Amino acid sequence: MEKKIDLRVALFGNPNSGKTTIFNALTGSHQHVGNWSGVTVDSKLGMLKGVKERVELVDLPGAYSLTPNSPDEVVVRDALMSGTFDCIVCIIDANNVERNLYPMIQLLEFSDKPVILVLNMMDEVESTGHFFDIEKIAEALRVKVIPAAAIDGRGIPELREAIVSPPEGNDFKLLYDTTIERQICRILRLKSFEADHEDAHWTALKVLERDPQVMKSLKSKPYFSDLRKIQNSSDRDLGRPSPVHIGEYRHGLIRGLVAESIKHTEKKTDSIEFADAFDHVITNPWVGIPLFIVIIFLIFQLVFKLGSPLQEMIGGFFSWSSIHITQFFASISTPAWLASLIVNGLIAGVGGVLSFLPNIMILFFLMSYLEDTGYMARAAFVMDGVMHKMGLHGKSFIPMILGFGCNVPAIMAARTLETRKDRILTVLVNPFMSCSARLPIYVLFASAFFTKHQGFIVFSIYMIGIIIAVFSARLFKKLFFKEEDIPLIIELPPFRMPKLVNSILHMWLKARSFIYKAGTVIVAGVVIVWFLSSVPFGVEYASEESFLGVIGRAIAPVFHPAGLGDWKIVVALVFGIIAKEEVVAILATLLPTAGQTLSEALHLYFTPVTAFGFMILTLVYTPCFATLGVMKKEIGLKWTMFSVFYGLLLGWVLATLINIIFS
Ligand code: GDP
Ligand code: MG
Repeated sequence: MEKKIDLRVALFGNPNSGKTTIFNALTGSHQHVGNWSGVTVDSKLGMLKGVKERVELVDLPGAYSLTPNSPDEVVVRDALMSGTFDCIVCIIDANNVERNLYPMIQLLEFSDKPVILVLNMMDEVESTGHFFDIEKIAEALRVKVIPAAAIDGRGIPELREAIVSPPEGNDFKLLYDTTIERQICRILRLKSFEADHEDAHWTALKVLERDPQVMKSLKSKPYFSDLRKIQNSSDRDLGRPSPVHIGEYRHGLIRGLVAESIKHTEKKTDSIEFADAFDHVITNPWVGIPLFIVIIFLIFQLVFKLGSPLQEMIGGFFSWSSIHITQFFASISTPAWLASLIVNGLIAGVGGVLSFLPNIMILFFLMSYLEDTGYMARAAFVMDGVMHKMGLHGKSFIPMILGFGCNVPAIMAARTLETRKDRILTVLVNPFMSCSARLPIYVLFASAFFTKHQGFIVFSIYMIGIIIAVFSARLFKKLFFKEEDIPLIIELPPFRMPKLVNSILHMWLKARSFIYKAGTVIVAGVVIVWFLSSVPFGVEYASEESFLGVIGRAIAPVFHPAGLGDWKIVVALVFGIIAKEEVVAILATLLPTAGQTLSEALHLYFTPVTAFGFMILTLVYTPCFATLGVMKKEIGLKWTMFSVFYGLLLGWVLATLINIIFS
């Protein structure tokens, strides 16, 4: 039964204005908050907490403009135009009113729904000695205005109250100059134009703005060619393109409003000057790029220095329990198959994966902290040149960095890119950004074969991933796309002292999903593998005669040239396509014989050279099902199939080359 919703409310505004922070505060959910644009690319739903009405909130992706440039902005406009919302909350970074008000003015122009304006980040504004005349803004825009600092919870109760008793609809109208208004009149006079459109005045304005979506919807109309003529004559009259003129007109209104409503008191220029000078230094490529590499390197060192002892403790706990549980089972004469399922299957497999939890938590904590300070956006800025050399757009850097966490949201973040070419390229090379599910594989092999240089080996795998991405992007661009690049416009968010809770929360959410995966997908995979290694009944567990052995042996010769021709290794790789964590889980179920640790067992199957080849192979080959699923959604089946084969082939070639050259 569907519950009745009393009100539907949308949160709308520029990227990085604090929408998700406010959404989380209002709904009690834990959506990802990040200090740069492009973090929220999917609309998120939640219910307003602490009121008796049933109010549904939607956290829309950030938008700079309602004349959409990229697919995520199209999503926003379609949502706002669909008329499903009873009220729209427009959230603005008050440090940057001029740019942030732009989409809001556009919103007020086309929607007659009530609008609440939230001036967020007032804590930062006040610390620079600026004050707003709230009344004046409310009067000029004819909306309700709420000052807020979402990060400290300020303004949230007022906002909640305003949402449940929304103001009347808005009747804001922006009057353009006579040239524009005259052209609008000409359009309105076209036969049947007014009858065709519910909001004809707005549609006419959009025609002058050459809004791609509106123009497309008008293509089949008899007056389409007349519209083209009016567009051209309007450009001639204005002496410049009408979209530019209209945009500036709005900016003019906003500038006037800002000038009237911001009051300056004392200025703390010292700190601002310092921040500017600092930005200048770290966004210089000669400093910025080495600094970025050093920071990433330090992160990996920390992941190992802090994580390894914890990892050994957890691993130790699982081997200790498997010994004791085996003894216990023997003492109560449990059937051998059941004991084998629990010890060889579940404890070995799930335990093998869970012991990497500390490394993953540390990685996520550090990444989230860095992201929140605003450093990552600066890294994106310095990497722009590098990205262009790769044949990618500077904005691709954000999906690329997200890829180190998980390729699924990273591929979705590619929606913020404006051209289809950039989106496809970014998505295709994204899996080479090694996700956290692959980290356990590297940690396992690095600690078994490269004891002294674990951190460095794993760091180098990540770097090789980046190099492969660069190489592949250039190759794909040469082969498939030959269009011109568009330049990067990235915003530098302010440096912020991150809230520790935020990073800890982020780390915990990742840990939780990792544990959840261990409890579901991995348990299922391990049980299937255990079953296939035990049938037909009577064969020795995980022997060549088992079903699994037969399947594995059929594929194994393919990987023989890479020195990875043992069927157990092949089975682990095959299951790795379900989820990369399965690789470690399956090796842990299949390789060790009684009393052996996984690391000892690995030495029987791998040499340091083939171990390295295996790490590279798992880095490069076919991504997991979840990734393939979003890939298909974002760039289509054809490109997804291409990615599957390309990864498989390249991974095989590299592992084989490593084996041939180094052994
Ligand atoms: P969104 O992109 O609009 O969803 O913005 P987020 O909610 O992800 O927030 C962007 C950044 O601003 C994050 O680093 C937040 O922690 C920070 N932030 C959000 N609200 C405030 C605020 O009121 N004051 C300050 N100082 N920072 C804030
Ligand atoms: Mg967001």
